[in-house]
Amino acid sequence: MAVSQLAKIINESPTLRLNEQARILRSQGEPVIHLGIGEPKNKTPISALLSAAARLNAGDIKYTPTDGMPSLKKAIIRYTEKNYGRLVALENVIVSTGAKQSIYNILFTIVNPQEEVILLAPYWVSYPEMVKMVSGVPVVVAPEDGNFHPSLRVIEQAVSPATRAIILNSPNNPSGILYSEDFIAEIVEYCEKKDIYLICDDIYQKLVFDGKEAVPAYNYTTEDIESSHLIVVNGVSKMYGMTGFRIGWVVGPRKLVKVMATIQAQMTSNPPVVSQAAAEGALMGDQNVVESLRLTIQNNRDVMLNELLGLNGVQVTKPDGTFYCLPDFRSFEMASTELSKFLLDKALVCTVPGSAFGMEGHLRLSYAGSIKEIKDGIGRLKWALDPESSDEIYVGNRRLTRDWL
Ligand code: PMP
Repeated sequence: MAVSQLAKIINESPTLRLNEQARILRSQGEPVIHLGIGEPKNKTPISALLSAAARLNAGDIKYTPTDGMPSLKKAIIRYTEKNYGRLVALENVIVSTGAKQSIYNILFTIVNPQEEVILLAPYWVSYPEMVKMVSGVPVVVAPEDGNFHPSLRVIEQAVSPATRAIILNSPNNPSGILYSEDFIAEIVEYCEKKDIYLICDDIYQKLVFDGKEAVPAYNYTTEDIESSHLIVVNGVSKMYGMTGFRIGWVVGPRKLVKVMATIQAQMTSNPPVVSQAAAEGALMGDQNVVESLRLTIQNNRDVMLNELLGLNGVQVTKPDGTFYCLPDFRSFEMASTELSKFLLDKALVCTVPGSAFGMEGHLRLSYAGSIKEIKDGIGRLKWALDPESSDEIYVGNRRLTRDWL
C-alpha cells in the first residue's frame, strides 16, 4: 500500500510504542516495571472531576468556539497573570487537544517548507517529527561539553537565514534540568534581535524541585505581547497529572493565535468540551494538588537518585524538575536501543533509549511511578548489568538466574 512521501519520513513515537509493548507484556501476565512512562499516578483533582461531571449532568455536550470556551480561556489568563506576570487578552489564547497539538499548530502556523527549527539536545521525542510534519527541517544542537545545558555560542553557529524558531523546554524532558536564567535571558534577546520565534514549552513549569523555579522567558523581554517573539505552551497533563483529558494551550501574539485557530478549525475543531470543563475546574480549584504532586515526585526523584548510586558504571545528572532523569550508560558500550531492548527482555524493565532524544548512550528513566517500582526497577537493572550484584533475582514469583555476565 502506497503512503505519502511525508508520511514515510515520520517516525513512530518511541515512548508510545514502549507503553504499548509494556501493556501487551502485562496483559500476558508478565510483571513489567515501567520506567518509561511520562505520567504520574495521582488521581484527577476533585475540582476537575466535579466540573466535568457538572457538564455531563447538564447533557450540554456540543461544539465550543474552536479556540476554547471563553470561561476556560479566562482561567488560563488568570494562570498566565499569576505565573508569568502578564495580563493577556482572550485573543492571545488558544486551547488545543493536548500541548502536543498546540506545538504542532504553532509549527504549522510559522514554518515554511525547508525552513529550520532549532532543537536543543536532549530534546523531547516529538519535536523533530512535528517539524518534519510541516515540511520543515529540524536542526539539532548538542551541548558542547556532553552535559545537558545548551549554550548560546553553539546555537548561534547553527542559526542560518532559514531559521524560523527555537524550541526551549525547561525543565527539560528528558534530562530534568532547568536552563539557567542567564541563558534564558540571552536567548530571548538573541531571538528578538534575529527575528526568530522562541517557542517555550513550559509543560513541566510547576514540577520543579529543591525550592528552584522555572523562570519564564517573559521576564526577559520588554516587547509587547503583540510584537513578542515568545510563544508559550502549557497544559494540564503534567502539573495536574491530567494526561487523559488532552488539554493544552498557547499564549502568543493574536495574529498568530488567529491563524492557529483557523488551522485547528480545519483539523479537529474545538477540544472536547468535557475535557475543557475539567481543565477549567483544575485551574480554578485548590492548587495544593499541584504542590502535593510536586512533593511526591521530588521524593521519588530522591529515591531514584539514591538507587542509581548503587548501580556501578552509571552517571546521573540530578534533575531539577519533571519526572525524568537521563543517566549515562556509556560504560556498558551498547547502543541505547539495544540496551533498552536487552533490559526489557531480560529484566522486564521498560526504559526509553537516549537516541530518541538525541543523546546516544543514555537511557531516560521516569520516576513518575511508585517508590516500589523505582526501587525494584533499579534493582533489576543492577542485576542485569552489574557483575558485582547477586546473579539471582525474584521477578514477580519467578526466580531468574543471570547467565550473561
Ligand atoms: N511537551 C513535552 C516536553 C512533553 O513531555 C509532553 C508530553 N509528554 C508534551 C509537550 C505534550 O503534552 P500533552 O499531554 O499536553 O499533549
